[in-house]
Amino acid sequence: MTAFDAPDGPLAATEPADAAAPGPGADARLHPDTRAIRAGRADNDTALAPILWATTTFVTPTVEEGRRMATAVGSPRFYSRYGNPTVAGFEDAIAELEGAERARAFASGMGAISAVVLGLCSQGDHIVAQRQLYAGTQLLLQTACPRFGIDVTFVDATEPDAFAAAIRPGVTTMVLAETPANPRLDLVDLDEIGAIAGPITVVDSTFATPLGQQPLAHGVDLVVHSATKAIAGHNDATLGVVAGSAELVDWLYSFAVLQGANASPFDAMNGLRGLRTLGVRVRQQSEGAAELAAFLESHPLVADVRWPGLASHPQHELARRQLAHFGGLLTFDLTGGLEAGCVFVEALQIAQLATSLGGPETLVTHPASTTHVNLTPDELCANGIGPGTVRVSMGLEHPADVVADMAQALDAVAAAGHR
Ligand SMILES: *Cc1c(COP(=O)(O)O)cnc(C)c1O
Repeated sequence: MTAFDAPDGPLAATEPADAAAPGPGADARLHPDTRAIRAGRADNDTALAPILWATTTFVTPTVEEGRRMATAVGSPRFYSRYGNPTVAGFEDAIAELEGAERARAFASGMGAISAVVLGLCSQGDHIVAQRQLYAGTQLLLQTACPRFGIDVTFVDATEPDAFAAAIRPGVTTMVLAETPANPRLDLVDLDEIGAIAGPITVVDSTFATPLGQQPLAHGVDLVVHSATKAIAGHNDATLGVVAGSAELVDWLYSFAVLQGANASPFDAMNGLRGLRTLGVRVRQQSEGAAELAAFLESHPLVADVRWPGLASHPQHELARRQLAHFGGLLTFDLTGGLEAGCVFVEALQIAQLATSLGGPETLVTHPASTTHVNLTPDELCANGIGPGTVRVSMGLEHPADVVADMAQALDAVAAAGHR
């Protein structure tokens, strides 16, 4: 947990937040699946499905009320860059599931992450981040931060106490972790991050979803999601969210309103719709990933299958302790390298070649031939990517069909002689 000084001056919110939400832990006795069904309905009238408030602005009843809304945190009925009732429903639901006092939704996961980094850090500050990160986050830290005089140290997050060792007392203001992490599903011990005192601790929990782990319960200050992925869950919304204490999220709000990466009401509606089925989807995808991982581990053309639920995962014990489900993502290497990867992804008939994860369709990526094609072999290696590395996001097809599809694609690799 952290101590910090909130900014003041004309940009700072001066009024307390509107009190529409039932507050964190309102349903704390209930199972997370049940809470995902019930959360975020405070402003829904008698409608069961989320109401889409497709409006940019709202009629202000009185001058006094207008003044209050212009300076309050997250007024949901003033101007939609500040807040919107549909978006507020999604924010309340995420806060409820993460055990947070407050959440703020953004136009994308990167909108959320850039707000956290640029809204809470200033010139002269120092960030400790892990090396195994989503490529967008890594680029933000490597390119934007230096331009604003923010220094970043990257550490190997699989080494115990790597974050704590890189902290410069009084200078480090933020610690940024991602777990499970891109691309090889490395884990970070949430207790270790939560125990760090001084800097604001932030965890990108996208791969776990709010049902897989609750970083705040481990003492972490802020949890971030790309809700574009499993939360919205249908590849139809670009959405991000940050959750944490009211103090920290309200401080962030002052920057977020000016940054303007606010969530669209339509995407927030799809985020809420997705949350209702998140429990069954993550369970099904985890079960499918278990079947696929077992098949791949036994295949001669496949090496180094990474899935947190496998006993062979280097951090399997931590995964068992920390994750409520092991998730639908897995990574493996084709022994035949780059050519094998190209043949494999093109031979697939059910799984599709596309960048994203957490949706109904099984997706694969082959970074060395697509997203990371411009990197040298050394640079690929530094990013944990080999020439034959394939990442799979297990979908909701029957697992037996996905396994059979992968089997026939591996046969095609063998037939092409890329062993
Ligand atoms: C996709 C992703 C992001 C970025 O989210 P967008 O919604 O695409 O901006 C950040 N972190 C992780 C782990 C992701 O998978």
